[in-house]
Amino acid sequence: MSTGARNATTRDLQALDARHYLHPFTDFQALAGEGSRIITRAEGVYLYDSDGRQVLDGMSGLWCVNVGYGRDEIVEAAARQMRELPYYNSFFKSANPPAVELAALLAELTPPQFNHVFFTNSGSEANDTIVRMVRRYWDLLGEPGRSVIISRHNAYHGSTMAGASLGGMAAMHGQGGLPIPDIVHIEQPYWYENGVDLPPEEYGLRAARRLAEKIEQIGPGRVGAFIGEPIQGAGGVIVPPDSYWPEIQRICREYGILLIADEVICGFGRTGRWFGCEHFGIEPDFLTIAKGLTSGYQPLGGVMVGDRVAEVLIGRGGEFHHGYTWSGHPVACAVALANLAIVRRERLVERVHDEIGPYLQRRWRELADHPLVGEVRGVGMLGALELVAHKGSRTFFRDRGAVGTICRDHCFANGLVMRAVRDTMIIAPPFVITTGEVDELVSRARRCLDLTAADLGIR
Ligand SMILES: *Cc1c(COP(=O)(O)O)cnc(C)c1O
Repeated sequence: MSTGARNATTRDLQALDARHYLHPFTDFQALAGEGSRIITRAEGVYLYDSDGRQVLDGMSGLWCVNVGYGRDEIVEAAARQMRELPYYNSFFKSANPPAVELAALLAELTPPQFNHVFFTNSGSEANDTIVRMVRRYWDLLGEPGRSVIISRHNAYHGSTMAGASLGGMAAMHGQGGLPIPDIVHIEQPYWYENGVDLPPEEYGLRAARRLAEKIEQIGPGRVGAFIGEPIQGAGGVIVPPDSYWPEIQRICREYGILLIADEVICGFGRTGRWFGCEHFGIEPDFLTIAKGLTSGYQPLGGVMVGDRVAEVLIGRGGEFHHGYTWSGHPVACAVALANLAIVRRERLVERVHDEIGPYLQRRWRELADHPLVGEVRGVGMLGALELVAHKGSRTFFRDRGAVGTICRDHCFANGLVMRAVRDTMIIAPPFVITTGEVDELVSRARRCLDLTAADLGIR
């Protein structure tokens, strides 16, 4: 195919896209003017667009393609399952083999207090399910007043009504009358922005104690649960000080409230442990799972329900009036089984913990010497760079987000997917990335930082 013909195809697709397709988290009008990048295929850690250009995917799609692209054994598992049984529901006392096997495997892989799963199609739906389970739990225990769930500002828990309400994104709350009642937010444990003069560990305790203050303010008898991402992802890969989570757990126990870890990003190995709660040494009552569960080869999410809650939901009887047509979808569950088989066989969690994670973190931290970079942080296969106006005085750019956008656009143009959250540049590469590919990621990132600095007249 000639280059001209390829370009014509790209333009045709872009025109149809602009005419008919409303994209998520997008300014529809602006995108229609610019035209979408059409991604047509992928292999390993590389994407290829409709003009044949290769891009290193530093974001694993959207934090999900942990085993990399082009895994035939996952494709085969899906095809086999579609031939055998493409669909049957799990309502009305029915089940299918992949859903049952996956439930048992998840009970094995998650921390010991988890022995039950409720399947959804996404992380958002899983968090909606948790809101309903928390409230039902307290109802069944005769404390229906405990309907409040506490979350953090700048958290991300999805885009459904409850997911967006649990999240702490001001822009999302500004559209559509959110949050829904009885969801409140406290400070996020963002040391670089809020810690000012405190040592990180001291700041972590202070941020955690906002939870106790909020519980006292609302009334301890009104609060049912606290939810947090072990490491905030969409908020900008915000890694809390090590003191934060144990103190949060202590406060939850002191007041008897449930602890929810949204593991949609951290789960299945991204931190170098199977789950982010294990990285921080806490024992939650719920886990939200999605993304890495299938490495994105099929949509699937779920709620891991801890024994404390499961005993009540099961033991007290009565129907839980909640479920999705696709709950426990056999093809999605077969894909999750094939994906997790790869993660185990190739020891990818151990690889993130012992080899590629430490290598990525070492190379990534070399970017700290760049004049635009105020802080470098990361854990496992997660990384962030804070771009600032003055690194010594920790001064952010006045127009927060403008510089991040410039840098992100340079990345796209130079063959790297690196995402911008305000002026924080973030990465979450696939676990199968090689050391050579990490070198390439870091050198492309540095080149794009240089180009950004040149645009700003900074040397
Ligand atoms: C992506 C994400 C969600 C939402 O998952 P969807 O599958 O997009 O609904 C929820 N929580 C966290 C932490 C996420 O990163």
